[in-house]
Amino acid sequence: MISPPSCPVCQSQSVRQVITIPSVPAHCCILWNTQQEAVNCPKGDIHLTFCGECGHLYNPAFDERLMEYSPNYENSLHFSPRFQEYSKGLIRRLTESYQLYGKDIIDIGCGKGDFLKMICSYGHNRGYGFDKSYQPELEDPTHKVQQNGVEFIRDYYSEKYAHYPADFIVSRYVFEHIPQPRNFLQDIKNTARRRNPNITFYFEVPNILYTLRDMGIWDLIYEHCSYFSAPSLTRIFESMDFDVLHVEEKYMGQFLSIEAQTGNGSSLSFEPYVEVEEVRHRVDRFALEFQQKMEHWKNRLTELQKLGQQTVVWGGGAKCASFLNFLDTSGVIEHIVDINPRKKGKYMAGSGQEYVMPEDLKRLRPDTVILMNPIYEDEIRSTLRELELNPDILIA
Ligand SMILES: [Zn+2]
Repeated sequence: MISPPSCPVCQSQSVRQVITIPSVPAHCCILWNTQQEAVNCPKGDIHLTFCGECGHLYNPAFDERLMEYSPNYENSLHFSPRFQEYSKGLIRRLTESYQLYGKDIIDIGCGKGDFLKMICSYGHNRGYGFDKSYQPELEDPTHKVQQNGVEFIRDYYSEKYAHYPADFIVSRYVFEHIPQPRNFLQDIKNTARRRNPNITFYFEVPNILYTLRDMGIWDLIYEHCSYFSAPSLTRIFESMDFDVLHVEEKYMGQFLSIEAQTGNGSSLSFEPYVEVEEVRHRVDRFALEFQQKMEHWKNRLTELQKLGQQTVVWGGGAKCASFLNFLDTSGVIEHIVDINPRKKGKYMAGSGQEYVMPEDLKRLRPDTVILMNPIYEDEIRSTLRELELNPDILIA
């Protein structure tokens, strides 16, 4: 076996492959209009690899060419009231800590710009949002849009934007998509520092320790080529000569954030609250759990197929995409139930199941329903009762 390339965070060669998942959809959340398109969607392999030196996990098989972010890419977290509350609290805290009043703020990968607009209006700041997939509400042929003191640039942030001023740079849920995070961070820092040597950075990413602790094997997706842990996130900023001020878990542990200042990386040495050793321990257990869980489900699906059981999956997000694509579900599971009416009649990337609404189950009469998220079990049981159905319920 060829050894995987060195760690993208610390460049160590002491890395090892943890698990391999072949042929998963490059974009797990794109809905397809026909089953044929869904089945033939672009796919890639996940070779989850662990660096024992800095505690980072990554996918060296990631192919950036498969990632064409377009305005169709919908990350709808913003619509969750709980997430909005979380963002508001975060804005209050950052504004107080870093005196973000009348400052210049750059948001790298701002998405639809909700966070940037909020932080700018809160402290009367000026904002510059960069996102290749930015979609203005009103089409504008120039790739620049102004909205209440916030300017959106439909492009990647690069040297050609060095004239934009920055006191504070924020980037949320972007870093985990970057195959060469060192270059990415270095380029941002070099560009922004031309106008101001003292900039505070705030980056937020999914927390791999949460996935490992939760044994969330269905949380692995192709789009995430980097899985940061507290030690690896701290390490990459320190090695780029940042002074790390703060690293913490957020949103019930699901996210990880770092606050750092452009400095020389020597005046402060930040002690992460999690050691690489703990990540290693979790990685070992996770690898074992992954094999066991996959075996369990392979057997279970074979049984259901032999018995000729009509089986559906309930809940069609990223977890569902992984469940249906990591396993061979063709001929066993034909439908996914989701309460979102926009998904009805569309098809799941890769595995090609059709999305249906709960009321369609009256016609499909499933013997077995597989739930992706046990949180909704009570709600789904009561919907099934209303539909006068009594299938077996399994938790994925
Ligand atoms: Zn490393």
